[in-house]
Amino acid sequence: MTVLIAGAGIGGLTAALSLHAAGIDTVVMESAREIRPLGVGINLLPHAVRELTELGLGEHLAEAGVATAENVYSDTKGRHLFTEPRGLAKGYRWPQYSVHRGELQLLLLAAVRERLGSDAVRSGMRLVDFAQEADEVRVRLLHRASGAVEECGAAALIGADGLHSAVRARLHPDGGPLLWSGIRMWRGVTESEPFLTGRSMVIVREGDVELVAYPIGRGRINWVAQVRVAEPGPLAEGADWNSAGRLADVLPYFEDWSLGRLDVPALLANSSGILEYPMVDREPLPAWGRGRVTLLGDAAHPMYPVGANGASQSIVDARVLAAELTAAGDVPTGLARYESLRREATAAVVLANREMSRTSSGSASGLARMTDTYRHATGSDVAVLNSRASLTPG
Ligand SMILES: Cc1cc2nc3c(=O)[nH]c(=O)nc-3n(C[C@H](O)[C@H](O)[C@H](O)COP(=O)(O)OP(=O)(O)OC[C@H]3O[C@@H](n4cnc5c(N)ncnc54)[C@H](O)[C@@H]3O)c2cc1C
Repeated sequence: MTVLIAGAGIGGLTAALSLHAAGIDTVVMESAREIRPLGVGINLLPHAVRELTELGLGEHLAEAGVATAENVYSDTKGRHLFTEPRGLAKGYRWPQYSVHRGELQLLLLAAVRERLGSDAVRSGMRLVDFAQEADEVRVRLLHRASGAVEECGAAALIGADGLHSAVRARLHPDGGPLLWSGIRMWRGVTESEPFLTGRSMVIVREGDVELVAYPIGRGRINWVAQVRVAEPGPLAEGADWNSAGRLADVLPYFEDWSLGRLDVPALLANSSGILEYPMVDREPLPAWGRGRVTLLGDAAHPMYPVGANGASQSIVDARVLAAELTAAGDVPTGLARYESLRREATAAVVLANREMSRTSSGSASGLARMTDTYRHATGSDVAVLNSRASLTPG
């Protein structure tokens, strides 16, 4: 059987690697004409690093990212409030990596092409529609360069097509709008000297304004600035991860912030570019897929990019999908089992991220409670991950 994956993001590419490792033929159709290293820094939590390591990518990750050792919470004058050990330092058997999103995507793409063949990922192919038949799903794809529409059959269709998923829209035409937290986010990458241990993520919040900064290797610091400007509600305009932002909009909030070695105004002003994104998610769905079609990653469970879980959850989805498709006697059963294992687990992360974005605590004990609660709510307790069986089929 051949599984067709729509979307060559972090989730879709990891699904291709996972299905291939399980002996299942896979093809990936990507809408972008060229896969370029877009985005800025993201984090891979230990549960995702475990899965990529078991796919044989551990050394590549170690080269591409920085093994984060701690989250350091401070006030706007750089006074220390609380340190939370992360990754190996927290006791996980696998590190947490801070990495450039686009570089991670290219690393996964190279592995897919090497293992599945150079034509396993077809770019410039946008999924526009699909129809389920008794023993296959017929998929319609727009060849963006020529404008032609191609149709092909597959045993299963995985919608890994991100925040504005076409697969999700067709499965759930009444799925509801994007929900805005009321928070504007600006992101960038700045060449800068290391700060604290060189493996530290610094997190500072004052009122409705927050800054997160961490190294992503090769002398680069990733930063994310968040400002709550409205009450939560449906998003009136579009959300695009790639929209340009303006220094003049973000700098005024941070002009008098000084975090010791980390000069915040200089960090923002010297950024190689600035992106702006409204912090959005969607209401968790009561069901993801039907028959031979399902969703994965942001298409299934878009979440606020707090808690470092967006890419990580898509990677776990991919591995569970491959394990369940391998174990089941038929495709609909395998996809239903995948959904039953992942839908509620990821809905819990969506809700925990909403809670995290609202929680504000300036005391060490409050921050300790918040981080423990988040870890527990998102199923990432150290002992649970360290002791659970591998998802590798067989
Ligand atoms: C350009 C871009 C930049 C991003 N930058 C950041 C960032 O800086 N920080 C952060 O935290 N998160 C970022 N994200 C989101 C982050 O990658 C995801 O939250 C997470 O990795 C889960 O990935 P995913 O594979 O589910 O979705 P995504 O990474 O969004 O990948 C979805 C893929 O599907 C493709 N696609 C969309 N529609 C179709 C279609 N109809 N047919 C075929 N293919 C389709 C898209 O082009 C994309 O490659 C970005 C996403 C994108 C697409």
